[in-house]
Amino acid sequence: MTDQYTLADPTTMYADIETTAQQQPGSGLDAELDNRADLGETTYRGSGRLAGRKALITGGDSGIGGATAIAFAREGADVAISYLPEEQRDADHIAGLIEEAGRKAVLLPGDLEDRDYVTQLVTDAHEQLGGLDILVSNGGKQQFTEELTDLSDEQFDATFRTNVDALFWITKAALPLLAPGASIIATSSIQAYQPSPTLLDYASTKAALNTYAKGLAEQLAPQGIRVNVVAPGPIWTPLQTAGGQPPEALPEFGEDTGLGRPGQPAELAPAYVFLASQESSYVVGSTLHVNGGMPTP
Ligand code: NAD
Ligand code: MG
Repeated sequence: MTDQYTLADPTTMYADIETTAQQQPGSGLDAELDNRADLGETTYRGSGRLAGRKALITGGDSGIGGATAIAFAREGADVAISYLPEEQRDADHIAGLIEEAGRKAVLLPGDLEDRDYVTQLVTDAHEQLGGLDILVSNGGKQQFTEELTDLSDEQFDATFRTNVDALFWITKAALPLLAPGASIIATSSIQAYQPSPTLLDYASTKAALNTYAKGLAEQLAPQGIRVNVVAPGPIWTPLQTAGGQPPEALPEFGEDTGLGRPGQPAELAPAYVFLASQESSYVVGSTLHVNGGMPTP
């Protein structure tokens, strides 16, 4: 594959990338994946679709957010990324690729569970980028728990703070800084529609943020600010190897999709580019499903 436009059979793409029963500490690193994910590093080809835009992406160090950061930069945007301090290595890799594309990279590490950090993040991104047109709320926490009785109050709260409260805080802080034409994109999940029995807290947050984004889209449309959602299916990223799934489930990860394989972060980035760019000017309050063929309502 030379770029994302190369014609190929989607069932056999990425046949060389196996998902392995790996377990990483903390939030996990792309750099430590046994079998590296494809973030489009060697393939994503830009064509000026986001020329001169300023974007903030949470969880922009790795996985889907990392692939989106690379794509945005190659489409001509300056990009600020948020991530946990322990992910500095992945963040440096993405920053290098943003700069290689000739764009500005702004690194803003911190904890999305911390309201003060999230508020400051938006201010810092706006200031250091010299504006803000695109906000991608993508950072997320996913920890599997087999039994409800083992799901701690602490984990339940932390999953909601990271996946829902942070979206509330970040949109509230960004709103006064956004002008007509701005685009807000949240990352939901197939879990909002087909919850796994082991992901009760996570699946609930993904439904909540999906609904939040649709309501916010209605509220902000008259101001010319569009809000949309991307709902990925099973994608090979560090999150899955860092407690997102039981490790023994990883070798078969994604095989129950129509295409019979997990997706790669590189396959998500074009959805975010579309929703961020003016091409999607009449797309408001939508959820774009990128899930390899898993029916949704
Ligand atoms: P990932 O591990 O590469 O990205 C998740 C990012 O979230 C991390 O890089 C981290 O920077 C950030 N994050 C988590 N907790 C944080 C905290 N407390 N403070 C700051 N940052 C924090 O994995 P990914 O799969 O690319 O995840 C990106 C988004 O996609 C998440 O919202 C996830 O729920 C969603 N998603 C993933 C899949 C999948 O199969 N991988 C499927 C559907 C939805
Ligand atoms: Mg990461």
